[in-house]
Amino acid sequence: MHHPTHLIHRDLRRTPPVAVCAFGLQVRDSAGNTYLDASGGAAVSSLGHGHPDVLAAMQAQLKVAAYAHTSFFTTEVAEELGDRLAQDAPGDLNHAYLVSGGSEAVEAALKLARQYFVENGETQRRVFIARRQSYHGNTLGALALGGNEYRRRHFEPLLMDVARVSPCFEYRERRAGQDVHEYTANLLQELETKIIDLGPQHVIGFCAETVVGATSGAVPPTPGYFKGVRALCDKYGILMIADEVMCGMGRTGTLYAFEQDGVVPDLVALGKGLGAGYQPIGAVIARDHVVQRLRAGSGVFQHGHTYVGHPVAAAAALAVQKVIRRDCLLGAVTVRGAAFRRMLREAFAMHPHVGDIRGRGMLLALELVQERDGKRPFDPDLQVHAAVKEACLECGLMVYPMGGTIDGRRGDHVLLAPPFIATEADLQQIVARLADGLERALARVRPG
Ligand code: PMP
Repeated sequence: MHHPTHLIHRDLRRTPPVAVCAFGLQVRDSAGNTYLDASGGAAVSSLGHGHPDVLAAMQAQLKVAAYAHTSFFTTEVAEELGDRLAQDAPGDLNHAYLVSGGSEAVEAALKLARQYFVENGETQRRVFIARRQSYHGNTLGALALGGNEYRRRHFEPLLMDVARVSPCFEYRERRAGQDVHEYTANLLQELETKIIDLGPQHVIGFCAETVVGATSGAVPPTPGYFKGVRALCDKYGILMIADEVMCGMGRTGTLYAFEQDGVVPDLVALGKGLGAGYQPIGAVIARDHVVQRLRAGSGVFQHGHTYVGHPVAAAAALAVQKVIRRDCLLGAVTVRGAAFRRMLREAFAMHPHVGDIRGRGMLLALELVQERDGKRPFDPDLQVHAAVKEACLECGLMVYPMGGTIDGRRGDHVLLAPPFIATEADLQQIVARLADGLERALARVRPG
């Protein structure tokens, strides 16, 4: 159905369906179609839609103070959210800077990191290291940090230089017969060589997603990878920045995904699940030493946006945090995530075009391949991911497929990120509809 529109939609050639109501895992459009939300939008809606506690908290805050500019005031609700985040984060990640989304969180992390060294007189530090096949947001700094050629191509001349190393992507990049420890050691060696080549005195920090979301599809790190990264950052005095915009806030079964890797980064970017879709909110979480350095130096973080610390956004995020704890949703993610993975294995482990089923907690993905044995990807021109998305929508299912050529990676995957409140029956429905959607899509694109 096409509607005349004055909005600039991403795809200017057609107007997407109009969502008229959303509750729990269900979204309904104006044509009367209902969809089961198996991706939480883009791994956002961790509590499903219309959660009464979050709505009540937002309404209460709206009545108290809908807005207060941070050059004049802080608010009780923003302070309480800061306390909560500090209390629940591991180690001395005791400070939160509240912004309006994931890209803003990454931008703020980059600026905090640079200022951290400027305050120490190390103004020559100007390089970030990030990985190929990465995505850290669409604003110019975050876009520069990411290695997604497709998203970058029109803007290349505007982007700062960022040094690149290989991603940690076992399924695609570990050679057949290569031991996983050797694979990991090689990646760490590559990072160390990069730091040395750049000169550690020029490097600000290394940034990576703990579990890679959209670009490669729920790719967890190999055992020991982030411990090795942490050790290298310590050895050379550079900052470790974790992008947990997608994988953080409980999505993997712990509040932060890196808790399962036994490390504490210096800075963490959050978004999506922080407000669970109820309000646009992101945050940078910082360790004591980062904030102490700024405090002891100029005493000012040289940054700011009009909506920093927005009280209604803070109220929504605080309510989300409380529900996650009260309803033991971290445990639910671990248990139901494992059940979901089992269901996916039962349905797709023998599927000729499913090469890998992977992820952590409720952040899972299927890698789609032309041939399982050689892990041969589909021809990018077939746009398999787009066909899967469309066919699944026809089957009443929202999933988040991605594909094409992304900075050296070829292939298609389907990302699944159901709300934490999904029941086993919901998950079974999701798998059944996904099986239908996949067959429909493959019948359309399969050569011959
Ligand atoms: N980092 C990662 C890992 C993401 O997945 C995203 C969003 N897809 C972002 C940053 C940017 O967040 P936002 O879209 O909220 O600006």
